[in-house]
Amino acid sequence: MSEAVNISPVWHPFTQHGLTPHSPVVVRGQGAWLELENGDRLLDAISSWWVITHGHCHPRIVAAMQEQAARLDQVIFAGFTHPPAEELARKLLSIVPHGLSHVFYSDSGSTAVEVGLKMALGYWKNRGINRTRIVAMHHAYHGDTVGTMSAGARGVFNDAYAPLLFDVARIPFPEAGQERRTLDMLDHHAKGAAALLIEPLICGSGGMKIYGPDVLKGMADICARHGTLLIADEVMTGFGRTGTLFACEQAGVTPDIMPLAKGLTGGSIPLAATLCKPDIFAAHYSPHRIHTFFHSSSFTANPIACAAASANLDVWLGEPVLEQVNGLCAMQEANLEAFRADPRFENVRRMGTITAMDLKVEDPGYLATLGPELTAFFHAQGILLRPLGNTIYVMPPYCISAGELAMVYAAIKEAAAQFG
Ligand SMILES: *Cc1c(COP(=O)(O)O)cnc(C)c1O
Repeated sequence: MSEAVNISPVWHPFTQHGLTPHSPVVVRGQGAWLELENGDRLLDAISSWWVITHGHCHPRIVAAMQEQAARLDQVIFAGFTHPPAEELARKLLSIVPHGLSHVFYSDSGSTAVEVGLKMALGYWKNRGINRTRIVAMHHAYHGDTVGTMSAGARGVFNDAYAPLLFDVARIPFPEAGQERRTLDMLDHHAKGAAALLIEPLICGSGGMKIYGPDVLKGMADICARHGTLLIADEVMTGFGRTGTLFACEQAGVTPDIMPLAKGLTGGSIPLAATLCKPDIFAAHYSPHRIHTFFHSSSFTANPIACAAASANLDVWLGEPVLEQVNGLCAMQEANLEAFRADPRFENVRRMGTITAMDLKVEDPGYLATLGPELTAFFHAQGILLRPLGNTIYVMPPYCISAGELAMVYAAIKEAAAQFG
C-alpha cells in the first residue's frame, strides 16, 4: 500500500491503482488519434469515453473557446444571462425532436439526469399531485451520483453505496422476442409513477445492449396513456451515435425531458443540458417562490463551454456531418460481417455508429479480469478500446477513416486469437 506514495497523487476514475499504478500520459489529440508523452500514438476507438464526435481538437470548436475565453470566462447564471447561452439554447431547440421548449444547463451527464429527475418530481409536486415513483430499466446506466446510481443497474460498482440509494420500479430490458414483457411491466409500473427514465435504443454501460425503435415508441405510448413523464437519457446517444442526430428521432418520439451531455460540445469541454416540454417549465412558473426550480451549480452555463457547444452545432448545421455518420455506419457494418460468422464471438451487433460483440469465454470466472486484460492488449497494439467485461465495442469519432477502422478490427481479431 505504502509504495503508492511515490507515484502520482492523482486518483483516477474506475481505476484500481493497486493493479495499474501507471497511467499513460497523453499530451496531444488530433482527429481520431491521441499522442503519448513517449511519442506513441493511440487510435481513439472509443471517442475518449464516448464524448468526442467529430475528432479531437476540431478547429472551429477550439477557435470558439479561445475567443470566448478572452471575452467572458464565467458569470453567475442565477439572474444573469450571456450571449453564448442564449444562442446555444435557440440552436439546440431548432435541432432536437419537435415540442421541447426549454433548456436547463449543467456540467455533466449525471447532473443533467438528476436535473431531469428533479424536474419530474417538481412538476408533480407543484401541481399538487402525489406521484414520486421513478421507473427505470434493468442494465441501465445514468451516471455515478447517488441519484443516478439509484436509477442505474445495481451491482459490484455501487454495492458499497446501496444504503444511500433510493428504490425505483424496474422493467426488464426488452430482449429480442421478449419486448411484450417489458411493455406489460411498464404498463403495470407506469400507472401513478412520476417518470420513466430510459436510455433510448441502447443501454451503453450496461453492455451495449440494443433494442428497436418500435419498443421505444411503445414505451412512449404507455407513458402518454398514464400521464407518466418520459425522460429519454440521450447523454450518450445524442449527436449522431445511433445514426440519427438523436435516438428518439428513430421512434418519432419527443420525450418530456431529455438530458444531453457528452457530444454536446463535440466532446471538447464539460457541458450538459436538460431539455423539457412547455408543461414542465409551466409547472415551475408562478408568482410564488416556492415553485422555483431549486437547482444550480457554480458553473451552470459556463460561457466558454456554451461557445464550444454553439460552435459544435454550427459544425452539425454547416458541414455534412450526418453524411459522415452514415458513411461510418456503413463502414462499421462492413467490418462486422466477418465477426458474424466467427464462432469465437456472439451477439455481434450494431446500433448506428456503435458496434459491439461478446467474446465467448470458457471460464466465466475469467470475466472479472478479462476487460482490463483486453484493454492492455489493445493498448499494446496502438488502439484505445476499453471492453466492458467480454463485450468489445467500437464507438469511434466520426472522422475515423476506413483504413483506421480496419486497424481496430484487425486488433480485435488478434485479441480473439489470444483470449478467445
Ligand atoms: C455517460 C452517461 C451518463 C453520465 O454522464 P457523465 O457526464 O459521465 O456524468 C449518463 N447517462 C448515460 C446514458 C451515459 O452514457
